[in-house]
Amino acid sequence: MDYLQCYQKAGQIASEVRETARSTNHIGKTLLDICYSLENKIKVLGGLPAFPVNVSLNDVAAHYTAEPYDETEVKDGDVLKIDIGVQIDGYIADTAVTVCYNSKYDPLVRASEAALAEAVRYATANARVSEIGKVIENTIVKFGFKPIQNLSGHSLDQYTIHAGKSIPNIRTIGSSFGLLENQAYAIEPFVTTKNGHGVVFEGKTKNIFAIRSRKPSKDKKADSFLETIWNTYKSLPFAARWLMDRYEATEVLNSIDVLIAKKNIHAYPILVETQGQIVTQSEHTIIPKIDHVDIITR
Ligand code: MN
Ligand code: MN
Repeated sequence: MDYLQCYQKAGQIASEVRETARSTNHIGKTLLDICYSLENKIKVLGGLPAFPVNVSLNDVAAHYTAEPYDETEVKDGDVLKIDIGVQIDGYIADTAVTVCYNSKYDPLVRASEAALAEAVRYATANARVSEIGKVIENTIVKFGFKPIQNLSGHSLDQYTIHAGKSIPNIRTIGSSFGLLENQAYAIEPFVTTKNGHGVVFEGKTKNIFAIRSRKPSKDKKADSFLETIWNTYKSLPFAARWLMDRYEATEVLNSIDVLIAKKNIHAYPILVETQGQIVTQSEHTIIPKIDHVDIITR
């Protein structure tokens, strides 16, 4: 398979898993069960998770995944963002859906879906990202809501989720750039209510990790643990629960702590809306072509 075929396959799997997530009733299920079941489906369909499934509730916009013994249950009234990554040979499809169990927030979900649909229409090769940001913001504002201004889409490369280029969710001034043909990008509008600030801050909880440096930490156990992670996930994000089949729980958590302190591992904090307002998200991965947009997670 060439790299574009890898993206296509990753996209098909991610799309199928996202639609399962969309149509499942998650009320009463734990976040742990939801993560396990969707990650398992990715594998059954022939892919690998590109990152732990994110299950971010209500005012948490992103970057929460289930802890090893997470008992958090989805309740009636919750708004849950489910963000799924699939990789084939390191080529990543990144897609997200919001499931909403409070009809008051259905318009918020529709706004993120509409903003994504509009943005994707513009995302042909050479499209200016400043135009995409403008379209996203305008669409959200028409619904009477606010985009999250400090979250953005991103370019994707092999084994790299955030590959250096950002696609804003707001009107921006100053430097912009054109989308490259055959380069993968994720577009992901986040929406909050008019009472929200439209900004997220970094919360205390951190349960998604990724290798930053492979320089030996001089702690023998931690270094062998680091090798295992590198051989399995490379620089892609992982969760502690993913390592519990190979190591004792305390060993996993201790090694992660040591490696964070030595700066071998980065821990991603959850991202929370500043005013505590509900956030919704929609996301596709696209590959721009000269005369059309290939939505690989369609
Ligand atoms: Mn995502
Ligand atoms: Mn993304």
